[in-house]
Amino acid sequence: MTKGAQLYEGKAKKVFETDDPELLIVSYKDDATAFNGLKKGTIVGKGVINNQMSNALMKVLEKKGVPTHFVEELSERDTLVKRVKIVPLEVIIRNIAAGSFSKRYGVEEGTPLARPTIEFSYKNDELGDPLINDYHILALRLATDEELETIKTYAFRVNEELKKFWKSCGVTLVDFKLEFGKVSDGTIVLADEISPDTCRLWDSATGEKLDKDRFRRDLGGVEDAYHEIMKRLEEHIAEA
Ligand code: UDP
Repeated sequence: MTKGAQLYEGKAKKVFETDDPELLIVSYKDDATAFNGLKKGTIVGKGVINNQMSNALMKVLEKKGVPTHFVEELSERDTLVKRVKIVPLEVIIRNIAAGSFSKRYGVEEGTPLARPTIEFSYKNDELGDPLINDYHILALRLATDEELETIKTYAFRVNEELKKFWKSCGVTLVDFKLEFGKVSDGTIVLADEISPDTCRLWDSATGEKLDKDRFRRDLGGVEDAYHEIMKRLEEHIAEA
């Protein structure tokens, strides 16, 4: 499958057409942004790691009954995916308080939650991705009731499977963001990526952050953290 015209360039990925109208190629970059694009940088090797990690995890999730956009890894940075219409929601699942949740509710980072939570942000850079609830999503026709229920079911299933997998790697899955899309027949599938850019991943023994918070918070050792988390994945993915 060869790359056609570039359709879109986002913060971390480029998207290209292919000769099949139902398929696209995503190409992962090393560019990193945070705080809605205010902080910019490069994490050397991130594109390769995010591409390979996201694909490996999506393959596991497919096996566990979560349909995804993944079709085929074409190269270190390029993956063939199903063309979807993205549901304009960031779906955030949390197991442990961190980041904006800790700030919003005054809960110390690292506090385990009594049960996993879900929240939605409306994907809109100009508005700064505001939090949105189920009623607003339906009122604004961002998704139907049925689509929203499917998204919730899949999101919690992803959480259970990823928690289990990362635990086997000695890593705690704190929280993560998912995006879903609709293929041409309307089926909801998991899209975008699952990577250290979109998940908080803490070493279970030491609490060390092995994710993009090292970049967001200027903690140093950003590249090392991405390589370490990828190494853990590679050591355990065969058993998943
Ligand atoms: N997240 C993301 N993209 C966003 C916002 C959040 O991938 O635009 C991920 C983030 O990496 C974390 C989870 O979603 O794993 C929850 O993030 P939070 O709401 O705490 O926001 P933050 O503190 O990162 O601003």
